[in-house]
Amino acid sequence: MSSPPGAGRSRPWIPGQPLVEREPEPEPTSGFTVGVLGLQGDVLEHLKALRRAGAIARVVRREDDLAGLDGIVIPGGESTTIGKLLDRFDLLEPLRKAINDGLPTLGTCAGMILLATDIEGSDQPRLGIVDITVRRNAFGTQVDSFDTTVEIEAIDGGPVPVSFIRAPVVTRVGEGVEILAEVDLGPVLVRQGHAVAAAFHPEVAGDDRMHRWFLDVIETQTAQ
Ligand code: GLN
Repeated sequence: MSSPPGAGRSRPWIPGQPLVEREPEPEPTSGFTVGVLGLQGDVLEHLKALRRAGAIARVVRREDDLAGLDGIVIPGGESTTIGKLLDRFDLLEPLRKAINDGLPTLGTCAGMILLATDIEGSDQPRLGIVDITVRRNAFGTQVDSFDTTVEIEAIDGGPVPVSFIRAPVVTRVGEGVEILAEVDLGPVLVRQGHAVAAAFHPEVAGDDRMHRWFLDVIETQTAQ
């Protein structure tokens, strides 16, 4: 039997190519450092989209990682799992404080649910920052997931291709919350000052306009 590649080196052999070296990192052109909460969910795709949009992007897993960020993305995944892990990693309070203190935030899908103050029929752990009520899985289960385009007035260049994957919908919008996009079922993109919540995944179709727009949100918030 031949030995696996790398046998005899001090590091254990792991099959396959290291992910970190797979793609050259684009030059960060915006100068902003954006974290992606990396406990569970669609972390890698957001990191890539942010880098293509010109940000320095890094994973956030512990309280120390929050230092020096200009913005943060809370990805889609499973909001109950991410909420429990936030609690277990002692990150729920520090992250809530950082966002309440003004850290520009984009929550997508499960991230929207975690940002919402109210979740229909659930007392799951959450950040509870954006004054909205959300209904989880409003578009159906995994088999009902779909790709579509959404008209977002704030974003130029035509409707944005996005994916709805067991997506929530907003069923109540509090005062001070702007609706930025809406579909038949209700609002799917809302903004409360520096906190933006999207029901869909903008990071899978390879169109980075939403991430570029989020860098603009960071820029305007930072200038204030
Ligand atoms: N349905 C999931 C939840 O309720 C969210 C799905 C997603 O983030 N794609 O947490």
